[in-house]
Amino acid sequence: MEYDLHVHTTASDGLLTTDQVIARASQSGLKGLAITDHDTVAGIPSPASERIVLKSGVVIIHGIEINTDFHNEEVHILGYYINAGNKALLDRLAEVKQLRQQRASQIVNSLNDMGFAIDMQRVQQLAGDSIIGRPHIARAMIEKGIVGTVEEAFNLYIGRGCPAYVPRYHLLPDEAIILINNAGGVPVLAHPGLIHQSGIIEQILNMGIAGIEVFYPEHTPKQVRDLLNLARERALLITGGSDFHGMGKTRNKLGGAGLNYNLFSTFVEKAWRYRQNR
Ligand code: AMP
Ligand code: ZN
Ligand code: FE
Ligand code: FE
Repeated sequence: MEYDLHVHTTASDGLLTTDQVIARASQSGLKGLAITDHDTVAGIPSPASERIVLKSGVVIIHGIEINTDFHNEEVHILGYYINAGNKALLDRLAEVKQLRQQRASQIVNSLNDMGFAIDMQRVQQLAGDSIIGRPHIARAMIEKGIVGTVEEAFNLYIGRGCPAYVPRYHLLPDEAIILINNAGGVPVLAHPGLIHQSGIIEQILNMGIAGIEVFYPEHTPKQVRDLLNLARERALLITGGSDFHGMGKTRNKLGGAGLNYNLFSTFVEKAWRYRQNR
């Protein structure tokens, strides 16, 4: 796909910097991408605008992915064309950064209580100045030989329902939607196919979400069909992206999911109209 609208960088838990991601996108012939880091706008290349067009013609849309908790599920809200200088957004993200720090320490403590010697300083080092997340803890566990992959760390220890799982700080999807709207952005429900409980998607639609991420590596063909129908019925924007983290997993290849030119044009047009009519 030529337009990948879901990409992470080292500003959150990705392994490549924004420049490296952009270079790779250009090399692999992508026409556009959206930088959508978890709970931060630090990876956005030019905070003064909501998108940029590189000399090569590649479009970079400035976005975010806000991780929220809703009825004991991970619910992630993407925001496109956000104003990265919006004060209310930046203030709340600064708080979230602190709260993430506390949560990471709690998880590390609980792993230590289980007998694994995980060093919080090492986890911090892996995150650097960026937003700290469970993937950084998973990488520290890999270094210690406790698990072989990030996935295994989530499945056995730090994922929901696992022994070292610590619930997220209080951040609900409706707050994320409001933050994105107030920053001039377009709120989109990320990877709806990963939500387990039926009824949650409906509730989130009722919170005023503008679009849904239909194309996603882990969505089955049936999920894609159902989500396309839902988007049509409810006049929602359709987006798609790979959720690239730079980990080289085939399912999360840069450009491995996304929009073609026609769908992207429709997305741009509808996003523009949404922002005009807000
Ligand atoms: P956190 O925001 O600290 O709760 O960490 C959640 C993030 O970890 C997600 O946004 C994904 O990027 C990543 N993640 C969640 N589950 C898995 C998994 N099973 N394998 C690899 N990465 C995961
Ligand atoms: Zn991530
Ligand atoms: Fe996500
Ligand atoms: Fe993501």
